[in-house]
Amino acid sequence: MQLLKAIQNNARLHPERLVFISPAKQMTYGELWQKSEQWAAFILALNLKKHSPILVYGHMEPEMLISFLGSVKAGHPYIPVDTSIPLERVEKMIHNSQTEFFINVSGLELTIESSVRTVTFEEMDKQLAASIDSFNWVKENENFYIIYTSGSTGNPKGVQISANNLQSFVDWMLEDFPIEGGLRFLNQAPFSFDLSVMDLYPALASGGTLFAITKEIIAKPKILFEALKKSKTQVWTSTPSFVQMCLMDPSFNSELLPELSVFLFCGEILPVSVCQQLRERFPMARIFNTYGPTEATVAVTFSEITDKVLKEYQTLPVGVAKSDTQIILLNEENMPVSEEEKGEIIIVGPSVSKGYFGQPELTTKAFFNYNGQQAYRTGDAGFIKEGLLYYKGRLDFQIKLHGYRMELEEIEYHIGKSKFVNSAVVVPIYQDERIEYLSVLIIPAEHPFEKEYQLTSAIKKELGLILPAYMIPRKFSYHKELPMTPNGKVDRKQISEKVFV
Ligand code: AMP
Repeated sequence: MQLLKAIQNNARLHPERLVFISPAKQMTYGELWQKSEQWAAFILALNLKKHSPILVYGHMEPEMLISFLGSVKAGHPYIPVDTSIPLERVEKMIHNSQTEFFINVSGLELTIESSVRTVTFEEMDKQLAASIDSFNWVKENENFYIIYTSGSTGNPKGVQISANNLQSFVDWMLEDFPIEGGLRFLNQAPFSFDLSVMDLYPALASGGTLFAITKEIIAKPKILFEALKKSKTQVWTSTPSFVQMCLMDPSFNSELLPELSVFLFCGEILPVSVCQQLRERFPMARIFNTYGPTEATVAVTFSEITDKVLKEYQTLPVGVAKSDTQIILLNEENMPVSEEEKGEIIIVGPSVSKGYFGQPELTTKAFFNYNGQQAYRTGDAGFIKEGLLYYKGRLDFQIKLHGYRMELEEIEYHIGKSKFVNSAVVVPIYQDERIEYLSVLIIPAEHPFEKEYQLTSAIKKELGLILPAYMIPRKFSYHKELPMTPNGKVDRKQISEKVFV
């Protein structure tokens, strides 16, 4: 596989070059390559079921990268799982993926109920040095990684990304963006979000260095800014939400990051005001808006946001597709729409996933074959004007909150399962066209609590066991009834429009 070959080449040419810097540790290309060989030998000796996924649990430690490469060198895809994901949800992933092997990089003591062999990286490290034949590597249409995203039925769904999918993405990044060899990349997104792939593999393939900003750093602005200064970042990858947070501090400018030359954004609407501020504070840096879902490998369209674009457009385009990919817009009858007409964005090309792991029904709903190529229905609305794609919101109840993707129905499903709840509806609360927080309206069941806040904390406690903190609504309110549509469904529109949320 070209990507692994490129990493191997970088390790041969610059074994002493740093590949990953995290607050407590750093690692060179030589160490990454050699240790991942060692760990791959350990995995091969386990004789796991062919191509079965390996779950890698941790935050932003160098051992995460060693585990990823160790897995794929041994012919197994990995499932990156951040420590912010509660264990009950992790068990669901193990169950769905039929994972037999779990690498615990986190250093946390875990009680896993599913039957899966768990090892820590210290145990893996005891394996003697080895050299793995590239014959064993994950290749072509085999899965390279599986990333779990929120699913509307209450269970997360695993997006399978093959070696070919990832190669198509990395080739595009290195061809169409100003990413030359040896640059310093910011690694802001934890590895369980596919935004992290936007810095991880372009950096590894081009001999770059990743600088990790952990959740502990992000939580403290003073430490975050010290870390940013130290990072000497040249390529910035983040959600617009994260850069917006940084912009609140006036010292976020080219004095702090004098070498910053490229901003790459993905995952959410990129506001004009954010780009205007970035142009003022980082006049030498180029800004790119990219668009795409996890199901099509991180991103598939791009548009450079220049001063000219900022003057001309009130809504920024997400741009043009990478050269191997086609974007088509279909109406409700599955017919192509005409220029400037709104339709569902369909992505066709070699970076589109084969589907959701072990979920044939969900896969058939969202993926199909289009003229011999894999195609994905994004559920995003868009239109094309003068050759540029524009994003126009969602066609369903998937949302982005502070950069995190989630299905409102999944949250409702879990709240609805609480014994204190009869029914629940979750609505996003907007401020300046951006979702600020989630509010849940509940018809309570019988419960022993005197005060509403006690009921809220009991429900929140239950939710904390199954949902990551970012999916738990901020505001809870209790009602005798909720407005209904004539066909008997909860009327979300009416609820969102009313002030009582
Ligand atoms: P994820 O799978 O987490 O990358 O989320 C994919 C979804 O994020 C897409 O289907 C869009 O709804 C949204 N999204 C991604 N990029 C952009 C963008 N540049 N502008 C607006 N929305 C975006």
